[in-house]
Amino acid sequence: SMASPALLMRVVASAYSVAEKAATIVRNVMSAGDLGIVEKAGPNDLQTKADRLVQMSICASLARKFPKMTIIGEEELPTDDVTEDLIEDGHCEEILKKPCPAQYTGIKEEELVIWVDPLDGTKEYTEGLLDHVTVLIGIAYGGKAIAGVINQPYYNYEAGANAVLGRTIWGVLGMGAFGFQLTEVPAGKHIVVTTRSHSSALVNECISALNPDTVIRVGGAGNKIIQLIEGKASAYVFASPGCKKWDTCAPEAILHAVGGKITDIRGNPFQYNKEVKHMNSAGVLATLRNYDYYASRIPNTVKESLVP
Ligand code: AMP
Ligand code: MG
Ligand code: MG
Repeated sequence: SMASPALLMRVVASAYSVAEKAATIVRNVMSAGDLGIVEKAGPNDLQTKADRLVQMSICASLARKFPKMTIIGEEELPTDDVTEDLIEDGHCEEILKKPCPAQYTGIKEEELVIWVDPLDGTKEYTEGLLDHVTVLIGIAYGGKAIAGVINQPYYNYEAGANAVLGRTIWGVLGMGAFGFQLTEVPAGKHIVVTTRSHSSALVNECISALNPDTVIRVGGAGNKIIQLIEGKASAYVFASPGCKKWDTCAPEAILHAVGGKITDIRGNPFQYNKEVKHMNSAGVLATLRNYDYYASRIPNTVKESLVP
């Protein structure tokens, strides 16, 4: 007889459908034309109607199904007045059919912490760089990112009206990651991907020290991890505070599920327990392969400028 699926797989299967609903909201807000932009900390820290609606949709939908989980979302919003049209109660059957890695079968609801970035790459969303945008749902257990869903609502948007718009990438440690074709950068090529809207002298100094063949500047932490796993870039390098736990949790789980590595610029792993500080103060260094090549070339002066 079939045992009922493990909690972790039920959460991932639900997060998949919740992220697809989120993508629909992201596209609908854009096509309706009123983004409702609000500045948070300043002009480079924005929130739109899509960030607000998606956060409410994801957090309320997951909380209704899994009331004992801790859910931490980027946006500070009331959680009590979520309308029924924002609730997604479906799940991905295909994910539910997969066996849960043995080390996670005993996880209890109250042991999971969900890190939600309802819309990663908001600045780029407001500027029409739509394929930079992702929806991030990260799942942490014991302080570690163990599973994640990344939805890219505008994947394929430049491919024309006949192309299927949007995709969902998901992964679980010990199982792998799905929804994309894992690709490596050609051997010996050093392509660094970094921020386009949050640069600084230190960010640029760090990249120069790595002497890359190419530098790609794009928005979004989720988008940059996609560049790594699809062979577009060999390292994501961001020597600055600014990135938060909800930016890195889902990307980390997916990158680690395919054998990559993400740390801060000093080489420290990120922690995702519910009490942790939200800011990744010491920046981000992530690779699919050859982590040590990049880590060993980051100048000590850069490391010392970033305090975890
Ligand atoms: P970026 O690579 O600039 O798109 O940044 C990745 C994520 O970190 C996005 O969610 C950004 O909003 C966030 N982020 C990075 N730097 C900053 C900053 N200086 N202020 C606010 N958010 C930031
Ligand atoms: Mg973000
Ligand atoms: Mg965001």
